Amino acid sequence: MGQFFDAKDKTFVITGGASGLGAEYAQAFLQKGAMAVAILDISEETGKLTASRLNKLYNEKVVFVKCDVSKEEDIKNAFDFVVVQFRQIDVLINNAGIMNDAPNMWRTACDVNWQGVVSFTLKALKHMNKKEGGAGGTIINIASTAGLKVFPCLPIYGGSKLAVVHFGQNLATDPFYENSGIRVLTLCPGPTDTPLLHNLETRSYDPSLGKVFADTVGGSNVEYQKVESAAAALVHMFENGASGSTWLTVENRPAKDITPV
Ligand code: NAD
Repeated sequence: MGQFFDAKDKTFVITGGASGLGAEYAQAFLQKGAMAVAILDISEETGKLTASRLNKLYNEKVVFVKCDVSKEEDIKNAFDFVVVQFRQIDVLINNAGIMNDAPNMWRTACDVNWQGVVSFTLKALKHMNKKEGGAGGTIINIASTAGLKVFPCLPIYGGSKLAVVHFGQNLATDPFYENSGIRVLTLCPGPTDTPLLHNLETRSYDPSLGKVFADTVGGSNVEYQKVESAAAALVHMFENGASGSTWLTVENRPAKDITPV
């Protein structure tokens, strides 16, 4: 059990780790002594820059792997590559996500936010499962408070995040994974100051609703949570979250106030 709760000497894979919250998660776990971190991202330029910044700070512990999580072949290649590099993956953080409810983007949004999470998780479950010769591990899925309650004009984003919440909760209580040495955690961050929330109007299903959303949820009326706060909450969950199942919401509160439920 104790093996779960310490980042020290563990290997991490973080999808969407090039920017925003993913990059912050990478830094937070490196600070906690992670042995190696693989940043997987569709954006090669940003991914390489982030890896190089972190490598200067943390003695070459970071590798960048270009991967589009909506593409099955990319997922397979990236996963296999990291297993060869690190020998084993101890922690998978399914963080890559897009907020785009425009009509021509729904399939991509579902593929990135939902299918990418499923595909990576299934690979990790097989790789980590002690009953199949694995070493155990932790899978953390990043959902959103938009998956727990209804925000205006986010049907695709909200639906995909709700799916991520249920997926994690189901796996965490699935008797099939008893004694597998795997725990599944789900984090639901609230609005956080990252590139994801910029230019909302151009990415909404209905531009006028998009404006409402921007004004009420992501606009000047709302104080965004800082990325450091969401990362601190994730570390808190990693270090304290029960084996088998934990999920935790972060709604613009400091991490110390957050209790896993
Ligand atoms: P972000 O846009 O700053 O970062 C997302 C990263 O994912 C980027 O580096 C991007 O290049 C990458 N990415 C996008 N599509 C990809 C793909 N197909 N394959 C691989 N990588 C891809 O966003 P963020 O705010 O840091 O969001 C990270 C996660 O947190 C997302 O899942 C998001 O839904 C979730 N989240 C964010 C907020 C928020 O308010 N920012 C709130 C709740 C949940």
